[in-house]
Amino acid sequence: MTNRLDRGFQMYREQFENAALRVLRSGWYIMGRELETFEKDFAAYCGAAHCVGTGNGLDALYLACRALGIKEGDEVIVQGNTFIASVMGISMTGATPVFVEPDEYYQINADLIEEKINEKTKAVMVVHLYGQTAEMDKITEICARHGLKLIEDCAQSHGAKYKGQVSGTFGDAGCFSFYPSKNLGAFGDGGAVITDDEETDKTLRMLRNYGSAKRYYNEVVGVNSRLDEMQAALLDVRLKHLDALTLERKRIAERYLKEIKNPKIMLPKLREGSEHVYHQFVIRCKNRDRLAEYLEEKGIGTIVHYPVPPHLSKAYAYLGLKKGSLPVTEEYADTVLSIPMYNGITEEEQETVIGALNAYV
Ligand SMILES: *Cc1c(COP(=O)(O)O)cnc(C)c1O
Repeated sequence: MTNRLDRGFQMYREQFENAALRVLRSGWYIMGRELETFEKDFAAYCGAAHCVGTGNGLDALYLACRALGIKEGDEVIVQGNTFIASVMGISMTGATPVFVEPDEYYQINADLIEEKINEKTKAVMVVHLYGQTAEMDKITEICARHGLKLIEDCAQSHGAKYKGQVSGTFGDAGCFSFYPSKNLGAFGDGGAVITDDEETDKTLRMLRNYGSAKRYYNEVVGVNSRLDEMQAALLDVRLKHLDALTLERKRIAERYLKEIKNPKIMLPKLREGSEHVYHQFVIRCKNRDRLAEYLEEKGIGTIVHYPVPPHLSKAYAYLGLKKGSLPVTEEYADTVLSIPMYNGITEEEQETVIGALNAYV
């Protein structure tokens, strides 16, 4: 069993099909009523003033950085153990990503941020990795004290909360991906930025549409990155069920946490006050590759999120960071393993996963 995205479709099949037909028959496919509705609904769900749909999560990150004025010569702080898109969102502006080690919850270690701040630092990008929020009270305080922008990468944390507040609403911009496997997944690519700031909202709307507020009058060099009507309509269907879908993920996680008992396997730790939405259920194991092979033989698909940390990837070799420069990040890359966690996984399938992990020697 691997991530079965079709299960999430079957759950609300008729509603998805009706929405798709409505769009097909409407004769309007880009920047219309469906997008307006979804933007309004998603902003309300998060408790933000504005939401701007984008073509994908990477563009959401890149355009948020640009809208907040981040440019060549600037530095942006980000955690070492993230999906490469977080880092690319920064470097696409010409700015330099500066990595901070994660804490025991896989989030940026808030206590290590300040030592990386200098006169070039413009922003901190927080990634709520795997669906658990970072230590936001410390991070918002540091950003405020140093006059830094705060960007949240919420691609894995739709609806996750820290001390009751929804991820994406702590800083200047919250960036989302609606890639099909995300907690709020589309049926293709999609993304969005939420913000409370009217100017940022206006700038984002321009940037995503060739830098124009008025058609064919271009004020800046923008991009073409829009959330299309089909994806917006389908996302609006799923958004109405997101709380139920998250609850299902939590139930699966509770079961894993209670029933997986093997000293060779480290279960994820939960931060006090942080509500985990379990985009991934990530365990750790010394001999990770052997465990993954063992599970594969039993028909259980696993994924490593992520085997090569950005600072050791070829893409970022130009930063000159060598192996050993981020030991915690590198250790996580060598030991993490994501086990099956998706909506619609059956009780039986969960039992198979638990049984296999407990029998591993
Ligand atoms: C998926 C993801 C992204 C990028 O989203 P796309 O829509 O695939 O571009 C960015 N950051 C994180 C943490 C992600 O998991």
